[in-house]
Amino acid sequence: MAENKATEVIVIGAGIAGLYTAYLLINEGYKVSVLEAGSTYGGRIKSLTGFAQTPIELGAEFIQGKKSLLYDLAEYFDEEIVTIKGKNFVWWQGKLLSEFEAAKNDAVAKAFDFMENAWQYRDEEISVEDFLAKQPYYEPTKDILAVFGMEYGTSNEKIGLKSLAKNDALWQAGSRNYKLKVPMLNLLREFIECIGKNLHFNHIVKNIDSTNDEFVSIELENGKKFKSQYIVCTVPLSILKKKYITFTPNLPKEKITAIDTLGIDSGIKVFLKFKRKFWHETLWELYGTSFCPLYYQMFPGSNSDDHILVGYFMGKFAESFRNKSNLAVKELVIELDSIFGNKVASENLIDSFVMDWKKEKFIEGAYSFDSLKSEGMREILAKPIGKRIFFGGEATNFNGHAATLHGAMETAERCSQEIKNTLNPSI
Ligand SMILES: Cc1cc2nc3c(=O)[nH]c(=O)nc-3n(C[C@H](O)[C@H](O)[C@H](O)COP(=O)(O)OP(=O)(O)OC[C@H]3O[C@@H](n4cnc5c(N)ncnc54)[C@H](O)[C@@H]3O)c2cc1C
Repeated sequence: MAENKATEVIVIGAGIAGLYTAYLLINEGYKVSVLEAGSTYGGRIKSLTGFAQTPIELGAEFIQGKKSLLYDLAEYFDEEIVTIKGKNFVWWQGKLLSEFEAAKNDAVAKAFDFMENAWQYRDEEISVEDFLAKQPYYEPTKDILAVFGMEYGTSNEKIGLKSLAKNDALWQAGSRNYKLKVPMLNLLREFIECIGKNLHFNHIVKNIDSTNDEFVSIELENGKKFKSQYIVCTVPLSILKKKYITFTPNLPKEKITAIDTLGIDSGIKVFLKFKRKFWHETLWELYGTSFCPLYYQMFPGSNSDDHILVGYFMGKFAESFRNKSNLAVKELVIELDSIFGNKVASENLIDSFVMDWKKEKFIEGAYSFDSLKSEGMREILAKPIGKRIFFGGEATNFNGHAATLHGAMETAERCSQEIKNTLNPSI
């Protein structure tokens, strides 16, 4: 089998973590190649044009916090950054209420309080669902509380409350959400230019072999081989869980445990385009509904001609949406009819688009979450193997910013630093 010329660093995966790692290392003088399984870059950043006048984001959409590398990147490009402003509404006992109105009910106020302060939990590990089931406010607010797990990319049953709280307490990016007017992919342009022809698409990595002391070998699905002094693996946790990439020798036991324990679940976004806006102008999020636990308005407060609501499904809700196959969108619209009345949703629906991340080749899930007893596991996942194999990507972020774009970027900074430290151990 032909072997390519030795390269100093090979980065696996052309999502934001992989591209930023390559960019940082190239700027430090390394020779870097990026091997991407798919036919394009961006990974979980994916924009759809043609559905609306402005591109819509099928994956990552918001800059989560101002004190973040992503916000800095958007500012660096001088992009217009729109602060998400809007009111949240809750479907509560057959009525659509603002959060403020809904919180006049004691049980709802307590449910909100839990969601805001869960990060302070320090007791025994327990699943979020089991913890909530013991609370007096749980029964009446079950549908509202479902949104908690959704925001973390799964359902409450699968989240370890203590593990999540430990990580959440480290969040430092700020609490506001921001959005760009241009596709999120545009933020990657400088990385792409910098990597140039060393970004290789349709290169599906199958095996990473570190048995040789001098270099690491990579074998692709088509048998082609590469070798390099360093490897940075940034593939999604789902890909590691399914062992689509094997390691020779096997990964250390603790790394396998971390891969198996940390979670990543199904995630689906459904875009519904309507002839007119039949919801409150300022609507941002709407939750408390039972089929889709979270809707949001695509362009809250803007005078855009596109009237789009997004149904956000994660974990068991995503599974149940998928199981309904062709009838799923219809059921979603019926749920909106029952909230807004008079068949207003079904009569005004123009178009819909479903993005199912579980079905997306080489991704196969939404984003990582802190499962039961997963405390400390992100750190283990992130640990290099020997002095040649490094791990980046959102799931390896142990500074409280996992499951985000800026968190993935932070892992790129860590990986490039780890490689530099390997060469200059004194630094
Ligand atoms: C529905 C959804 C909504 C989200 N919303 C937001 C949001 O609003 N804000 C936010 O900050 N974050 C959001 N996220 C999370 C964010 O998208 C991720 O944290 C981030 O994109 C992860 O980047 P990454 O580089 O770690 O991984 P990825 O982007 O997944 O990149 C990994 C790359 O590895 C490639 N790969 C896989 N297997 C192989 C192989 N065998 N060989 C070679 N290459 C391989 C993949 O094709 C992929 O391109 C969202 C995610 C989803 C799914």
